[in-house]
Amino acid sequence: MYCQDDLAVQINFLEWKNPDAIFIKNAYRLLASMGDTLQSYTYEDLQEKLVYKHRADHRLQTVLNLFDLYHVTEGNLDTLNLTLKSPIPDEILSAEYITSKQERDKKRLVDMLNYVKTPNCRRNYIHSYFGMRRVDCDNCDNCG
Ligand SMILES: [Zn+2]
Repeated sequence: MYCQDDLAVQINFLEWKNPDAIFIKNAYRLLASMGDTLQSYTYEDLQEKLVYKHRADHRLQTVLNLFDLYHVTEGNLDTLNLTLKSPIPDEILSAEYITSKQERDKKRLVDMLNYVKTPNCRRNYIHSYFGMRRVDCDNCDNCG
């Protein structure tokens, strides 16, 4: 169910999910450089301009989500009406913001892997994760 390779793949995904400040700025610069022509590009076009090696590298999607969330952009690529509205807020470029998001994601990953690997009661793993009381289980694949 779980192997070391999976962990390596998962950690790659985490990196792709967590663009750094340089990537965020590059993405912004790219959008800004396109001006009005921005609306004629697809996600794949932009992806190709920003990311060279990995097709599975979706930092751009994460950045577009962030830009939308912080009203840096309006509209979206799918509906051909993505437009830049305001500069990148300092908050999302801060090392603190980026590191704390990475740490949260890493912790979630480790928690999930521990759940998969635990030799103990799975129900009680979930209970302790959510701060609930232990139960007599005898019912999960590890207890039963
Ligand atoms: Zn159990």
